[in-house]
Amino acid sequence: MNCELISVGTEILLGDILNTNARFLSKELAALGISLMHQSTVGDNEKRLKACLDHAFSGADTVILTGGLGPTPDDLTKEVCASYFGKKLIMNEDILKEIKAYFSRKGLTMPDSNSKQALVPENSTVLPNKNGTAPGLIMEKENKKIILLPGPPREMEPMFTDYVIPYLKRFSHSIIKSRTVRTFGIGESAMSEKVSDLLENENPTVAPYAKDGEALLRITAKAESEAEAERLISPVTEEIKARLGTYIYGIDAESIEEATVSLMKERGVTAAFAESCTAGLCAKRITDISGASQVFNCGVVSYSNEIKSKVLGVRANDLARFGAVSDIVAAQMALGVKKLSGADYGVAVTGMAGPTSDDPSKPVGLIYIAVTDGKNLYLKEFHGRNGGNCRDYNRFVSASNAINQLRLCIIHSPELRSEGSIEEFINSYPRN
Ligand code: ATP
Repeated sequence: MNCELISVGTEILLGDILNTNARFLSKELAALGISLMHQSTVGDNEKRLKACLDHAFSGADTVILTGGLGPTPDDLTKEVCASYFGKKLIMNEDILKEIKAYFSRKGLTMPDSNSKQALVPENSTVLPNKNGTAPGLIMEKENKKIILLPGPPREMEPMFTDYVIPYLKRFSHSIIKSRTVRTFGIGESAMSEKVSDLLENENPTVAPYAKDGEALLRITAKAESEAEAERLISPVTEEIKARLGTYIYGIDAESIEEATVSLMKERGVTAAFAESCTAGLCAKRITDISGASQVFNCGVVSYSNEIKSKVLGVRANDLARFGAVSDIVAAQMALGVKKLSGADYGVAVTGMAGPTSDDPSKPVGLIYIAVTDGKNLYLKEFHGRNGGNCRDYNRFVSASNAINQLRLCIIHSPELRSEGSIEEFINSYPRN
């Protein structure tokens, strides 16, 4: 079975809504082992929708459409598809009753226009809609199939799961299973070099991609069963683990903060954060994870120099001489928040998020991260983006780096460079 996807809706073309239906359906079809050949988006327009169907059936035998099943005259997906297959629309009294009942459960009377949704192409299969009024439909003609689903995701997704998956399974004899290896601190190209031979694999395939400052590898196997797919994926996962070591923070894990919080719980350790440019983003992301109270001690948003000195004990001289965005200030912030909180680890972030820099000697995107366990200092200087909408990106990636440095420190990663004693580092700086 070869599939194509058509998302119908002018609001998608205008950028008013994000096409999450396409994402959902693409993932579901991949999991079913059904090849999705092409997908397109079209406005609520009869002529263009017909052209899309012509194109879709030139390469596929099954076309799934979402949207345009509503009661208004501009909702014309069903009408166009029925006429495309040369099928008449017939009033289905059972569906009409259900739509009326749906309205009366809400204490409303069905508007006349909704009766249009009870028109069904002859010889089609009706898919009940538990969360709305427009039923889904499956039409067949010779070896071609059209599957019509409503636009709202809360109606479309359960309908697909409950009725379309069992239908499609009759035509697919394989499944596709994927595993994602998530790394941090190694760029996409450096990561790809380490596994370059595996990228040539045919089954499972190994594909690199980058997202939000992270480099990921997706391992995808096509097999006849879950067990067979797992047998193909497992050895490749182990090989990747051996090559990428502690750059890997999780396999199929959700996020760097989730992986770090579960590591901290496992080790029974706590951390506190002193944040300048990220202004609480590290604390927010860590505490987004349920159970974070066991591991998160406190967060200090020390945006001004005065608070850096008053609350965290950063030397005013160092702030004046080296600036707030400097390794020496990051080190003192980390030590200060560790002492203040009594946590096992102190983590600090200071940097130029941009888009402008108030210190000509410090470029936008320059970030310092310091982590200490009270004895040693682990420093990282990195350069984010400079230009465009860099502020959100730089803050997000700074928080990710800070959380990752904490993770590397907890696992004593060989990737982490120690500056030695934090007290000695701080005292090695001239005092005036
Ligand atoms: P309705 O009965 O609500 O009119 P419909 O099947 O006619 O449903 P549309 O009118 O095309 O669907 O879209 C209704 C709403 O569903 C949109 O305003 C949007 O919120 C959501 N929606 C439609 N298509 C998509 C899509 N591809 N991805 C995400 N949401 C969508």
